[in-house]
Amino acid sequence: MPHQNQTHPDTIDIVGARAHNLRNVSLRLPKGRIIVFTGVSGSGKSSVVFGTVAVESQRQLNETFTWFIRNRLPKYERPDADLIDNLSPAVVVDQRPIGGNSRSTVGTMTDIQSIVRVLFSRHGTPSAGAATAYSFNDPQGMCPECGGLGQVVRVDLDRLLDPDKSLNDGAIAFAPFAVGTWQWQLYAQSGLFDPNRPLREFSQEQWRLFLRGNGFRVPRANKTGAQGSNAYEGLLDRIDRLYIKRDLGSLSEKNRAAAQAIVSEQCCPLCHGARLNQAALASRIGAYGIADYGRLEISELIEVLDAITDPVAEPLAAAAATRLRRIEEVGLGYLSLDRETATLSGGEAQRLKVVRHLGSSLTGMTYIFDEPSVGMHPRDVGRLNRLLIRLRDKGNTVLVVEHSPDVIAIADHVVDMGPGAGAQGGQVMFEGTVENLRTSGTSTGEQLRLVRPVRERTRAPKGWLTVTGADRHNLKNVSARFPSGVLTAVTGVAGSGKSSLVSGAFAAAHPEAVAVDQSAIAASRRSSPATYLGLMDPLRQLFAAKHSVKPGLFSFNSDGACAECGGAGLIFTDMAYMDPVTTVCRACDGRRYRPEVLAYTVRGASIADVLAMTVEESIEFWNGHGDNRIATRLHALAEVGLGYLPLGRALSSLSGGERQRIKLADRLRHTGTIYLLDEPTTGLHMADVDTLLALLDRLVDRGNTVIVIEHDLEVVKHADWVIDLGPDGGKHGGEIVFAGTPRDLLDSEHSITAEYLRRNLTQPTDLRPPRAAS
Ligand code: ADP
Ligand code: ADP
Ligand code: ZN
Ligand code: ZN
Repeated sequence: MPHQNQTHPDTIDIVGARAHNLRNVSLRLPKGRIIVFTGVSGSGKSSVVFGTVAVESQRQLNETFTWFIRNRLPKYERPDADLIDNLSPAVVVDQRPIGGNSRSTVGTMTDIQSIVRVLFSRHGTPSAGAATAYSFNDPQGMCPECGGLGQVVRVDLDRLLDPDKSLNDGAIAFAPFAVGTWQWQLYAQSGLFDPNRPLREFSQEQWRLFLRGNGFRVPRANKTGAQGSNAYEGLLDRIDRLYIKRDLGSLSEKNRAAAQAIVSEQCCPLCHGARLNQAALASRIGAYGIADYGRLEISELIEVLDAITDPVAEPLAAAAATRLRRIEEVGLGYLSLDRETATLSGGEAQRLKVVRHLGSSLTGMTYIFDEPSVGMHPRDVGRLNRLLIRLRDKGNTVLVVEHSPDVIAIADHVVDMGPGAGAQGGQVMFEGTVENLRTSGTSTGEQLRLVRPVRERTRAPKGWLTVTGADRHNLKNVSARFPSGVLTAVTGVAGSGKSSLVSGAFAAAHPEAVAVDQSAIAASRRSSPATYLGLMDPLRQLFAAKHSVKPGLFSFNSDGACAECGGAGLIFTDMAYMDPVTTVCRACDGRRYRPEVLAYTVRGASIADVLAMTVEESIEFWNGHGDNRIATRLHALAEVGLGYLPLGRALSSLSGGERQRIKLADRLRHTGTIYLLDEPTTGLHMADVDTLLALLDRLVDRGNTVIVIEHDLEVVKHADWVIDLGPDGGKHGGEIVFAGTPRDLLDSEHSITAEYLRRNLTQPTDLRPPRAAS
């Protein structure tokens, strides 16, 4: 037990928390422990962990600043609670993609790149100079051609020119050089080419002159008609100089759009994507240059660093290797330092953030994780667990929102929220050890005891959809066949090539397939489940018909908008150099509508009331009253397990898993479609996984083909067909290890997934005593 005294209380105390759906929740969370929050989606886990603990910690931290700074920080409202005490500073490690611009790479975001730079500046031969001479984000080190981006924007001749046309016909498809313009005259009236001849018929020398010629003058009539002359400049050089090589921001909007239409991004011809200048690239340590360090898979780079024995270089190499091993430990050894962070998945991003925090020397912090097992194969979950344990053992409190039984297993303390979602939830159902949770009688406890068998009676494929010779990313000339008319699970450890095969090769070979993924829905702050599913129109019509007014009145995007906030419900105050500050609109109290509009009611509810209801509440409210369109759409949302979601909630506030299920709901009416889903269990409680499986079954039974990338073994067991990629991640993956029924997967010798599936069924841990499946 941690030392206990007056100044270092050993619990975080929450009394009477009421954020969102919480019903006067009181908790004593032991510090220095791993505390896992469980419960069905929408039960209130995030409302405790993020909405109460994290918000209050951030708010109190902000209060330690002067008024001047505080006024410029984002405002955190005090969470609704009677008391929140003994907090420690909170660090939220969420799944928000790291994003960032193209200068942000795995190497830069983990700070390992800076160690590598020092290593090269001291030990690379020939040396390029100080550490900054090896930085692609520093003028001293960056490639002069691409400015350190590794890519250059080049005029794409295919887009710029139409070789079947002559100059007089408008062969140059770029508005500033349109027929008759001053710039066009430089070429058409130069006397160098026949302006009536299609470009295709130009000689090789004419092409050279046309695109790159310079160093001479050509005759030209000036504006008044008098004959003069102009220095000639080839078309490509001219466009480069005037439009491409200068800051695009300095061009007029029209010219910028025109320029963007004739260019494409290509690998930099000078550094070949390595981003650095030639001096930095020439420098070597042994056989390897700094570009090789960037390109190697992390696991390989560790070996290279371990082989460095020079007594002066060795400590730096060891420091870099230590950090790289942490990345390997979270199962990301297949990444490379030069990988752009914007291309990482949410789960990968989260694990990299964990690694970054593990390296920090802060203790006594509260770390908050949002479903860290997302995107992880059961094998890698074991590695994640070790990380969480290490964070705790450094003297931190670790709060985790999690559904995976394998993570729940390492909890020192579990808080199970429930019993239902939204208004049916918000209570603490159980608090205590994992063993006691199992026998607690809560739905989480029940689920932990269940062992389900693999599907024995699988559906017969209606046909086969093939992919041949796939080689993107790490795929090794993969040919695969996917059965149609059934449910297929694509499995394999992270980095084995699942997305490259499904979202890449399969989607390219079968463009009719519909990808229902977790990516953001291109939508404004004003989009909500109601707008996305087309519920707004029938709702507005209903209100308008009842009161004989215009439907537009019930739109907060037009006539009905609150005058103060313009229908946003929020006021955004631009703080110049700071994040904008957001406050709830006082005029409408965040309801977005003008007061007059809210006076019109249907069955006692205003349009704002209707949008504030959850899907479940709406189903009950409209039962037998609204029109058919309303009912089918609401049921679709409930079917995908989003019954707890308020209709008017901003789409931008949804998690990746929720976004995916909204997209799925929008698609439910279709048949004869191929659906590609990316880890649809994300964010789902074990009990909700059953709902999802029932939904996938219904999709298949309606004549669709469903292909899911999935780690959840319950989904794998339930599938008709499994395609397992591996054997491992990165260059050690990219092959099909197994294809067949889940029953046959159990007998596969080389599949890591098979190993964990067997373990799941035959070696129940303490958490899963053998028990007849229900
Ligand atoms: P969980 O983390 O268990 O999935 P949440 O704490 O996210 O559950 O949600 C609990 C309830 O609070 C749900 O009914 C949800 O719709 C509601 N809720 C969550 N976030 C917000 C928010 N920012 N504003 C209003 N209601 C919210
Ligand atoms: P999985 O879906 O099984 O996790 P992926 O298909 O995402 O695996 O990745 C397979 C391999 O391809 C990995 O080595 C990964 O680093 C690499 N890879 C994936 N996406 C990209 C990308 N956008 N750019 C470069 N490499 C990538
Ligand atoms: Zn370059
Ligand atoms: Zn308002």
